[in-house]
Amino acid sequence: MPLRDVPVPEPGPGDVIVNVKAVGVCGSDVHGFTGSTGRRIPPMVMGHEFSGMISAVGEGVTGHKPGDRVVVQPIITCGQCANCLAGMPNICTNRSGVGMMRRDGANAEAVRVPEQLLYALPPEVPWEQGALIEPLAVAMHAANSSPIRLMDTVVILGAGTIGLLTLLACRLKGAGSVIVSDLSPHRLEVARQLGADAAVNPAKEDLGEIVRKHAGPAGAPIVIEAVGITATAKQSLELVKAGGHVTWIGNAAPTIEIGMQQIVTREITVRGVYAFNVEFGRAIEAIRAGRVDVTPIMEQIVPLEAGPQVYHDLAKGTLDAIKVVLTP
Ligand SMILES: [Zn+2]
Ligand SMILES: [Zn+2]
Repeated sequence: MPLRDVPVPEPGPGDVIVNVKAVGVCGSDVHGFTGSTGRRIPPMVMGHEFSGMISAVGEGVTGHKPGDRVVVQPIITCGQCANCLAGMPNICTNRSGVGMMRRDGANAEAVRVPEQLLYALPPEVPWEQGALIEPLAVAMHAANSSPIRLMDTVVILGAGTIGLLTLLACRLKGAGSVIVSDLSPHRLEVARQLGADAAVNPAKEDLGEIVRKHAGPAGAPIVIEAVGITATAKQSLELVKAGGHVTWIGNAAPTIEIGMQQIVTREITVRGVYAFNVEFGRAIEAIRAGRVDVTPIMEQIVPLEAGPQVYHDLAKGTLDAIKVVLTP
């Protein structure tokens, strides 16, 4: 991953150019960088979690002008397929995205985006927190897709950015005990800081016993998987009570091995969730209004020049930072 000088992008009709102020490094970018998922096709510029200031507008752009502070919702949808028309553009059948597959994203000083992806970034929200809006929207969609009732015990497997933001989103939704599990002592510490009732290392403690202590002997009504590998997918089925709900948000391994009988004979609902819909605007408002504090998750804020090293270190596992934000 080299740092390269490239021409400043020109806005096409309906496009704006955003001068990127802050862009988050996402787990999906790191997996795209290693090539394990095939969701990034080089040569391209990654980066889809970002805020910035408009520097130029193309023909036909009427709602925005240079100088506007914006945050970009990076999913490009067709607006015409059945899913778009049903209010679920996140599963648009013609979906693409800024900084995904072949389309250049925001790990750069400037990026070209269609005007319809823009949201105003309120003046109270700093640029760096603007870069956390996209992952917060993902977490809020996971919470919105899980039938959490007031004071329900919720188990979250994985304390990466999405797992931890899901903890905050479940709190907003009225969860009772929230138990977070991860193998990294550092991530568990941040989970505690964010208010987890228990932060458990399943290699050292009996996670099942701790869940039953909080939720009762039948298990948890809601389990949210935020890793995306066989081990945690299996755990999600073991920890949920019969008739309970499992939400899968993790997206690391394309294929996993799973106990189908456990799902069938215990009538477990397994729900996949991807990206967000109305949650993007609500994530902006949640941060603006101080309903969630995302700052403990932003562990490094570094210049764009440090980006290639950060990606290498995250891919190798030598850097255990939850969210790194680059500031071009
Ligand atoms: Zn992301
Ligand atoms: Zn569509």
